[in-house]
Amino acid sequence: MFEEFCKCVGHTPMVRLGPNLYAKLETFNPTGSVKDRIISFIVEKAIEAGDIGDGTTLVEATSGNTGIALSAAGAALGVPVKIIMPCNMSEERRSMMKLYGAEIIDVPPSDFARAIEIRNMLVLEEIDHWSPSQFENQNNILCHSLTTGPEIYDDLSSRGLEWSAFVSGAGTGGTMMGVRNFIKSQHALSTKCVLIIPEEDASCHGIQGINDGADFLLDVTMMDSTYRVSTQDATQRSSLLARDHGLLVGISAGANVVAAERWIKENNPEGAVVTLLCDRGERYMSIL
Ligand code: PMP
Repeated sequence: MFEEFCKCVGHTPMVRLGPNLYAKLETFNPTGSVKDRIISFIVEKAIEAGDIGDGTTLVEATSGNTGIALSAAGAALGVPVKIIMPCNMSEERRSMMKLYGAEIIDVPPSDFARAIEIRNMLVLEEIDHWSPSQFENQNNILCHSLTTGPEIYDDLSSRGLEWSAFVSGAGTGGTMMGVRNFIKSQHALSTKCVLIIPEEDASCHGIQGINDGADFLLDVTMMDSTYRVSTQDATQRSSLLARDHGLLVGISAGANVVAAERWIKENNPEGAVVTLLCDRGERYMSIL
């Protein structure tokens, strides 16, 4: 079943939200988020390399979406999954992972360092435990260089549009660095990379999925500009995406759109500004 799961990942539609603003609907991936991309990519490579077999347990530290994607992949492969997650991530995320049959190990609120520590311990000490290691794995970046970046480029080309900017927050940093590497490989350096940082501290902001306490794969020096977005603005914008556009999406999607709109206002670009709507809104119902 895993091959069939992988066939459903990526090639997501891009919607126009304003005169220059386009957003890729990552909600169309099978578990409803951008993270299906890296899990299908990294797990496929691990199977090819012989690192995952019938007796393997998949394990990962995650703020939720990677855990949901890995839980679904594990279900499709018929192997157990253990997810280590801060206890303040939304209840819907937990329910989804449990429905896919995963075991959840809780760590204190926002403590990703502890989640990663436990993951590393399990991989080292338990037999046949394997992790996609999303916070360190260069294939996380490569996946977006080979899929997300080219998909955006092809979509804009087919509409006859130039690509002025890519706007995104960073959790692992995989999306931003991957798309940025693709842009560089195209020698399209006039396309700007705009990073979003939550206005509040990493320990207390509510934009789940971004700024998990460290930069991980992200190289901030490669960003052209940085925008700070508050949890309140992100949440309000995500509600408006549902009411005004019929797009029920998560909080990081709201943050992405807020920053993209600000960038457009300040830079008045001729070409398209592209962002991602990273996950479905259903997984935030208990907090929105
Ligand atoms: N938004 C959401 C909702 C996410 O779950 C993630 C991934 N944690 C991101 C944005 C950021 O993606 P990346 O890990 O590729 O930086």
